[in-house]
Amino acid sequence: MDYENFFSNKIKDLKAEGRYRVFADLDRHAGAFPRARVHLQNGSTKEITVWCSNDYMGMGQNPEAIDAAHDAIARRGVGAGGTRNISGTCHNHVLLEEELADLHRTEAALLFGSGWIANMTTLSTLGALIPGCVIISDSENHNSMIEGIRHSRADKKIFAHNDLDDLERKLRETPKDAPKLVAFESVYSMDGDIAPIKEICDLADQYGAMTFLDEVHAVGLYGNRGGGVAERDGQMHRLTIIQGTLAKAFGVVGGYIAGSKAMTDFIRSYGAGFIFSSSMPPAVAAAAQANIRYLKAHNELRERHQERAATLKRRMREAGFPVMDSVSHIVPVLVGDPVLCKQASDDLMNRHDIYVQPINYPTVARGTERLRFTPTPLHGDQDMDYLIDALKEVWTRLGLKAAA
Ligand SMILES: *Cc1c(COP(=O)(O)O)cnc(C)c1O
Repeated sequence: MDYENFFSNKIKDLKAEGRYRVFADLDRHAGAFPRARVHLQNGSTKEITVWCSNDYMGMGQNPEAIDAAHDAIARRGVGAGGTRNISGTCHNHVLLEEELADLHRTEAALLFGSGWIANMTTLSTLGALIPGCVIISDSENHNSMIEGIRHSRADKKIFAHNDLDDLERKLRETPKDAPKLVAFESVYSMDGDIAPIKEICDLADQYGAMTFLDEVHAVGLYGNRGGGVAERDGQMHRLTIIQGTLAKAFGVVGGYIAGSKAMTDFIRSYGAGFIFSSSMPPAVAAAAQANIRYLKAHNELRERHQERAATLKRRMREAGFPVMDSVSHIVPVLVGDPVLCKQASDDLMNRHDIYVQPINYPTVARGTERLRFTPTPLHGDQDMDYLIDALKEVWTRLGLKAAA
């Protein structure tokens, strides 16, 4: 086989479909979020405004987190020394797990290298080791959950997205005495809709199922202390497992689960993605802990974040753009064609110094290609004025669809 030829042909397929990905090459500026310098393909650079970061609160540049990281590097060095199993736990890991357990009011929490690994490891371990376990999974769940469920080889059933009737049907048709786990997310990050957590927990209770909730796009952002939508809705105590990331609103990197002592100890002791992967550097743990603490104490940032998102949606609707329904901080605008979606994104960058990435298949269904805006507390009114004018120019020139 001509391996090189195989690789380039697979790339040609993507390009023909208009969904070959080119990453924006950015230097973010600490102290000037959401500004960044982009390195263009012709070798030049320029200043731009970022409108699609998942650093939802600008916490990646929080001075308290930067200080905590500097301090940890000066005192502990840059690495953790390997897996916790072999090299021991850094005390910063212990402190961070305590901070997370306090955030979610659970007995314990457990860290992973990323949110992806947290989902993959936890779901695959539960599904593989609980005899006869049936996993009932929302149809829109993130790739990391799907991979974990698949890897577990447990029986799985997919319920229609956020559809309580279909979830109940799947629970009812599962043998009464079979162990069950309902896996879902709170904020779905491409459409910006939110799961009915209370009703899902009610059904899980009624049918004796465990619950696994991915709050990756909600921790730091919802609830009085940033515990997520489950905190906002008063349901946090009802989940068997809450999973989150330290890489989005908390602005650093890493993933975790929170829950009972017995459950987290079980994953710690049996989960391959925990046991066999090196732990995060102490400076990363210290910075994440500083940001979690900071967001616990600064609810006004969450209020400002929600206001900014509501304002952007309103202003875009008034200007006639097809803003998709979203009840969260996510602002998706429909384009409906992969090539035009990429073109709109390129034009915003090249002509208007605005970065918003195109969202194409397989991240979203074909025909629903979109631009996904994530306004933060640091995007001002003037940033919005400028964005709306730029969008008007691009929409007219490319002949993109207005709101129905
Ligand atoms: C980004 C994401 C993850 C993975 O988290 P990382 O920390 O980035 O690995 C998991 N679930 C959802 C819904 C995500 O969007």
